[in-house]
Amino acid sequence: MSPDGPLERVSTGHLPDDATVTTLLQAAYALHRDVRDGHVATYIPQLARADPGWCAASVVSVTGRSFDVGDSDERFSIQSVSKPFVLALVIEALGADRARELLGANATGLPFDSVTAVEVHDHRTMNAMVNAGAIAASSLLQEVARVSPGTSVPDTEAAWASARDGLSAFAGRRLEVDDDVYACESETNLRNRGIAHLLRSYGRIHCEPEVAVDLYTRQCSLAVDVHDLGVMAATLADGGVNPVTGERVVSDGTCARVLAAMATAGLYELSGDWLWEVGLPGKSGVSGAVLTVAPGKGGLAAWSPPLDAAGNSVRGQLVTRSLSRALGLNVFASNPDPHDVPP
Ligand code: GLN
Repeated sequence: MSPDGPLERVSTGHLPDDATVTTLLQAAYALHRDVRDGHVATYIPQLARADPGWCAASVVSVTGRSFDVGDSDERFSIQSVSKPFVLALVIEALGADRARELLGANATGLPFDSVTAVEVHDHRTMNAMVNAGAIAASSLLQEVARVSPGTSVPDTEAAWASARDGLSAFAGRRLEVDDDVYACESETNLRNRGIAHLLRSYGRIHCEPEVAVDLYTRQCSLAVDVHDLGVMAATLADGGVNPVTGERVVSDGTCARVLAAMATAGLYELSGDWLWEVGLPGKSGVSGAVLTVAPGKGGLAAWSPPLDAAGNSVRGQLVTRSLSRALGLNVFASNPDPHDVPP
């Protein structure tokens, strides 16, 4: 079976058997691991140290079967792949309608760190997959802490604990901040601080701007490996239940809204191209991760540091596209009904 097969392959139930998934994952990885396009991010100095040759991928089914290939033991900072999970926690705390009102659900068509996007759109934050909306989402983490069991004072540290514990529940293990990435990004994140203050001027941020950016920078600095991201994606694919730990992390309705946000803007201004090629909600981050969800079937994660001009991993996108096609995961693909069953 070719890993770059035609779109017509359509899967209606679960992922195929273990041997088939293993073969397709290895084939997709082998096909793209030597691609040389793209550049490692340098605007966060710690990320510039990444080996451009690193490449790994993971598939985790909604039944908890998991498959890893490549440099799957390497850890990296989660960066923007944290955004859908913080959005999920905010939706759980505030409800989907209020979260949409405060954060937005529409595309900017502009880069993830665009200041212009805040200025030209009356909504300002636009969506929680770009930095403006994500920093606004982090500014609501005290509201998440307020409804978390065991929180007496929903201060900054309680807000951070809610984020870290929430993302850890998605991953099924306790995630820790990479202190070097956090320190280095805190020194260089002037643009994000500018966005936060600008949002504050429009009344679109809900705690002190510097606190919001600090929480956002911490969440971006959490260290993960590709398997963690596979499990996190599978939890979104499984209606909010982590298929490995069995824990319900968020509701099925929350997952559906998060996947809508990912489909709209998960790969920023190239999200339309991504949907065209892959047909699944995805989320990228500047460390080179791409997390993708096949609703009801499983999660895919691919990681390789060299990025395209929008900040999306080149090999990560190619490996995911091959897997989506080979496994028949495109949610827009259908075959004509054979009409052999009476209506
Ligand atoms: N922490 C990074 C930033 O805010 C995340 C961006 C990304 O992964 N696209 O610039």
